Amino acid sequence: MATIGIDVGGSKAAAVLLDETGAVIGSEWREHASDQFGVVDVVVALVEELSRSEHVDRVGVSLAAWLTPDRVGVLIGANLGLEATPLQARLVELLGVPVVLENDGNATAYAEYTRGAGSGSRMLVSLALGTGVGGGIVADGRLLTGANGFGAELGHLQVETDGPACVCGGFGCLELYASGRAVAAAAGRPTRQVVAAARDGDSEARGALAGAGRAIGRALGRIVAVVDPDAVLLSGSLAESASELILEPAQAELARCLPLSAVLRPVAIRLGSCGRDAAALGAAELARAAVISSGGEVTEQRGDTNE
Ligand SMILES: [Zn+2]
Repeated sequence: MATIGIDVGGSKAAAVLLDETGAVIGSEWREHASDQFGVVDVVVALVEELSRSEHVDRVGVSLAAWLTPDRVGVLIGANLGLEATPLQARLVELLGVPVVLENDGNATAYAEYTRGAGSGSRMLVSLALGTGVGGGIVADGRLLTGANGFGAELGHLQVETDGPACVCGGFGCLELYASGRAVAAAAGRPTRQVVAAARDGDSEARGALAGAGRAIGRALGRIVAVVDPDAVLLSGSLAESASELILEPAQAELARCLPLSAVLRPVAIRLGSCGRDAAALGAAELARAAVISSGGEVTEQRGDTNE
């Protein structure tokens, strides 16, 4: 029995195939059209491709989207062209196996907890720095998703009270300072060029990345007071390409604004270890951990190591 995990991003979908033990035995990716048909098509195509050699009995799908609290559908996925889409039922009908949905920030956190740099952590905080900033918290082995499914939206933690308006309706959110989009805007060029220029010593580029790091440190100062983490991990394309240029200012800012400093030691901010497939791996692990009823329905999917 094998499991497939698929991460559907803005224009590409990446898939991994795990065997019974959780080992990666295949991977694939495809571009897709960003609308509900494109998203469904690409998931079906990737599952067909990867299930040629193995009998796949569960599929996990990670999406850059806000999901319904019960994880059966997408509420809003602006970058995917999705709105009010009952995605789980549609995919179950087409694939004929149980399907688990989760947002990409949570899926990334779950991958790091189950098989990455956060394994064994009691309270894991994960920030995925890509086009936006995804967040995830794994508390005692379970994703913290909140009462309405929007828990751990750490990219929308306010770091500047007088900051600009965010797409979420808030102001001064972390995502406005620490995402790839924010870094590109601050340095006036594409993110990849910013990172390359910063490595060559360009002060404006270094400043943009350090600004992202400081915003992360400030956000973490607040997160620490709420959840007291023992692992804090950064992942995503921006964190991986500019790790030390972001990690050092983030750590310094966290030390500067650490609450409870009489009793807490600053937790080390580290790079995640699941790489670019983190969200796909996390989706697969969530599918593996899900409780499936005898009728083939997902009855519990947030992961629970106690079961
Ligand atoms: Zn926001």
